[in-house]
Amino acid sequence: MKRNHKNLSMFSFFLIPVLLLACNPKQSANPGKTIVTVSILPQKYFVERIGGDLVDVNVMVGPGEEPHTFEPQPSQMEALSNSQIYFTIGVEFEDAWLSRFKDANPEMKFFDTSAGIEKIAMTAEEHHDEDAGTEHEHGELDPHIWLSPANVKIIARSIATALSESDPRNSTVYQENLDAFLADIDNLDQEIQTSLASISSRQFITFHPAWGYFAHDYDLEQIAIEIGGNEPSAAELAHLINYANEHGIQFVFAEPEFNTRAAETIASEINGQVILISPLAEDWLNNMKNITQSLAEVLK
Ligand SMILES: [Zn+2]
Repeated sequence: MKRNHKNLSMFSFFLIPVLLLACNPKQSANPGKTIVTVSILPQKYFVERIGGDLVDVNVMVGPGEEPHTFEPQPSQMEALSNSQIYFTIGVEFEDAWLSRFKDANPEMKFFDTSAGIEKIAMTAEEHHDEDAGTEHEHGELDPHIWLSPANVKIIARSIATALSESDPRNSTVYQENLDAFLADIDNLDQEIQTSLASISSRQFITFHPAWGYFAHDYDLEQIAIEIGGNEPSAAELAHLINYANEHGIQFVFAEPEFNTRAAETIASEINGQVILISPLAEDWLNNMKNITQSLAEVLK
């Protein structure tokens, strides 16, 4: 009797999970977790800070890819069909793809994490020739909202609210994680202010105009090489080189997700240096600290 009973337990111990797996692979792979899709890697960090072990996060734009011209792979559309939540942030490709994402997964809930954030205009054309300005779209709003700690506090609160709504039993966990993340962001903000308190110059040159919100929050001025998504013309390059020489600018920031050729041209013409900084690194908190250190060093 005893042996039979044991055999039966062994039988069910092995067989039942196998049967469950066969019947419902989604749930068994992620027991009790909320499956979330986001557009860019920093959002993955935000969602994981708040959701911890309770979430599984898919990212549309992977490492080294850029969200302005991104198109999802068929395998990503497949992964999307398992998601319960999609957090949008307002990057360009969302406009073209959101309706298709909805079609691919009508059950999925969409949350706009850019809600409540005051968007600012792109300022890329400010330092270029007046005549060249006419061909650019003026008044276009800057999508790079996640590069401002103040904005990320708003984004984090939206994520916590959405996760609590979809999984109310764990709302205390989400709230505690949110509080810890907000405290880290406040510390980061202090660190940025301290690091930039004694700098002697406030202008920096960057290839891609991703740092408008950061510059806005910390009273810096971003001078972008790329205008409206386009590489600069020879005349625009010459203008920037003159500008940098006149103002003693010796460093050019560039983003690893984009072509660095124009940044290198300017750097060599001003006997300067290219410094790579990414707007899309997954470890957002450390990335922001590293960028602050680079800026403080360059602008000292
Ligand atoms: Zn960008």
